[in-house]
Amino acid sequence: IGGHPKPQQGPMKVAGVDRILAVGSGKGGVGKSTVSSNLAVALAKQGRKVGLLDADIYGPSQPRMMGVNKRPASPDGKTILPLHAHGVTIMSLGFMLEEDKPVVWRGPMLMGALQQMLTQVQWGDLDVLIVDLPPGTGDVQLTLCQKTELTGAIVVSTPQDVALLDARKALGMFDQLKTPVLGLIENMSVFHCPNCGHEAHIFGQGGVAAEAKKLNMPLLGALPIDLETRLAGDGGTPIATGDSDMAKAYARIAEGLIK
Ligand code: ADP
Repeated sequence: IGGHPKPQQGPMKVAGVDRILAVGSGKGGVGKSTVSSNLAVALAKQGRKVGLLDADIYGPSQPRMMGVNKRPASPDGKTILPLHAHGVTIMSLGFMLEEDKPVVWRGPMLMGALQQMLTQVQWGDLDVLIVDLPPGTGDVQLTLCQKTELTGAIVVSTPQDVALLDARKALGMFDQLKTPVLGLIENMSVFHCPNCGHEAHIFGQGGVAAEAKKLNMPLLGALPIDLETRLAGDGGTPIATGDSDMAKAYARIAEGLIK
């Protein structure tokens, strides 16, 4: 990865890929990558051919979350063979970098890398390619929305005011770029105490649902704060691989994504 791919004319399709769904957020740490990996796994469990492109170039987390990290092969020095885990075809810039080294690249290099991950990776025939975007409204989001035919975007937020404020900016960006927003996902919406069953609304209550209603957008799901989800992600086997309530919640969201 590197170099300067030819500039693209107009939005491009990725060969063999039926739909591209981008998962965005206004700020980091709200669970965008967790949601991306779990939706990818849930869709794969439903028999879909699924790809996961980790476009969070500054902090690629999919190698860890999907439990796969090695340098992809490039038999001809041009095409890149993606990796596979949990039934999902995966490409991440993280596969090409050392985990603890920061990415200090300028915009054009980032965009080059993103375009190469879309066009040079042998995705094969996919029903859906999930793109885990970096947080915010920067170069990568712009390039992806303008140069690629996106089927739609999903915005993940916690119910906290500061997260919602930034989520609104991400929604505004998709609107400006004419990328249809499929809906919002509220993550970390509630914490059920495992000892006493008490429900604690650590980041506030119902903020994303209220926002979705205000904007006349679907709320695709509300996911609680869940220790197992965090452990599963850190361990490289997303919670959606199992059959817990959380896995079922992801399955329900996934079902609604492809009609
Ligand atoms: P982002 O992609 O928005 O930066 P991540 O998906 O990396 O966020 O999540 C940040 C941290 O929060 C990770 O450690 C992840 O395991 C954890 N996390 C995400 N969603 C949940 C959840 N619903 N319950 C518990 N932990 C979560």
